[in-house]
Amino acid sequence: MSGNLYLRIEAQVRRHADEACWSVPGRRDWSWSEVGAGAAGNAAALQAAGVQRGDRVLVQVEKSAEALLLYLGCLRAGAVFIPLNTAYTASELEHFLSDAAPRLVVCDPAKLAVLTPLAQRCGVARIDSLAADGNGSWSVAVDAACAAARQGGGALDVPVTPCTKDDLASIIYTSGTTGRSKGAMLSHGNLESNADALIECWQFGAGDVLLHALPVYHVHGIFVAMHCAMLAGARTILLPKFDVDAVLVQLPRATVFMGVPTFFTRLLADARFDRAAAARVRVFISGSAPLLPATFAEFELRTGHRILERYGMSEAGIIASNPLHGERVAGTVGFLLPGVAARVADEAGAELPRGEPGVLEICGPGVIGGYWRLPERTTTDFRSDGYFITGDLATMDAGGRISIVGRARDLIISGGFNVYPREIELAIDALPGVDESAVIGVPHPDFGEAVVAVVVPMARAQLDEAQLLGALRDRLARFKQPKRVFVVAALPRNAMAKVQKAALREQYRNLFEQRSREGP
Ligand code: AMP
Repeated sequence: MSGNLYLRIEAQVRRHADEACWSVPGRRDWSWSEVGAGAAGNAAALQAAGVQRGDRVLVQVEKSAEALLLYLGCLRAGAVFIPLNTAYTASELEHFLSDAAPRLVVCDPAKLAVLTPLAQRCGVARIDSLAADGNGSWSVAVDAACAAARQGGGALDVPVTPCTKDDLASIIYTSGTTGRSKGAMLSHGNLESNADALIECWQFGAGDVLLHALPVYHVHGIFVAMHCAMLAGARTILLPKFDVDAVLVQLPRATVFMGVPTFFTRLLADARFDRAAAARVRVFISGSAPLLPATFAEFELRTGHRILERYGMSEAGIIASNPLHGERVAGTVGFLLPGVAARVADEAGAELPRGEPGVLEICGPGVIGGYWRLPERTTTDFRSDGYFITGDLATMDAGGRISIVGRARDLIISGGFNVYPREIELAIDALPGVDESAVIGVPHPDFGEAVVAVVVPMARAQLDEAQLLGALRDRLARFKQPKRVFVVAALPRNAMAKVQKAALREQYRNLFEQRSREGP
């Protein structure tokens, strides 16, 4: 039997045929049959472009129904889908292009001219653009064979490529602690098992309507949200991005809303968001970063809903969730999903007594087999008994309820996006006149955390904040750029000469809170 995840989607395509599958406000609805035909057309076009089972297709496009059809086409064709944040700059893309060695790169039409020479330099044979052009054509500017295959999409019935559960469905690049992104290799089996566990936990059904405002280059938006809806036969309202006005218009039509904590704080900042606006929704689900207990409380007060917080990561999908029925406790991420085993361990991997904080280690069918072309990371990030070291600090109480209490790694999460300080420090240190730098995350009322850089100039060099920020603008995606830069004479260090980031965090912790109190 084939383990291709697409078969599960195809079953829903047959079951719901003419019913609406996706609604794109202001554009059109896509029936399940149209989605199936679009996936088939894309699979055919990919094959015509020489993409075979196991080949990587690297995709950097804005969110659209067409982008999702391309994902489904990849699944169907047995290709490995690699979505990339659209904020990545050309220089950041170079690493992904050479590391992933994709057979095909697909970008937005506006980026084709810039990315073509870059792709060629990285040895990529083929680059195309995906037009999300509003009339249902998902055509890519390709040669005649591909175009013909794609245009005939509706009539095509390319067979679903047989795969095993261990075949790769996707590689998701996660920011690396060393400044280099690593590719988490997700198999068809990883994705399917996680989707099934979530559908069970959150009781997704064909009657649900998911309001989708997340990006689709991240596990949260593309796998957690889309798989829950599609494998359950539910309808999805696709918004191009999170926008309070658009969410308020669509919310009365939705039964489920998923978001990063920033979505919830922004909704709460709008007086129109009240009990009536949230009345039809059966569950609000938050994840990708810690939800502040204050947000949880304010949300309940305003709407009567207790946000369901869950915890996951690119390497494993969702790991733990507060219960749908039962107590949702603010500041905790609930219980392990069915099939997931976990321990809170010390540095050596030995399980700690319940209640003590330690590093969360996990094992289960959703956990990746390893990192793309990084066998050494695959060795260091897994224990010999197969447990994956998440790098998150957690506690687990006697009843199995988990709280994430910090990060063993230095990760900053700003607006739901992960930023690894090392990568930013490397970019800053490479600028002329910079001796060294330390990058930290500090509390921010809107983004949760904000990136702040503390920079030491070389002797006699003149540096200022505006100049440093300007120099970083083309080097780093916007979400990674520091919100403030401080030029100082020296960094605080401990006896082992390690930079004391905790001291810096303390020093700058009120930076944005004070500003918001003082007003603009
Ligand atoms: P990503 O791979 O981008 O999904 O990021 C995964 C990381 O986000 C995890 O390792 C955690 O550090 C963090 N994270 C995700 N969900 C939560 C949550 N509910 N509470 C705290 N941290 C979270």
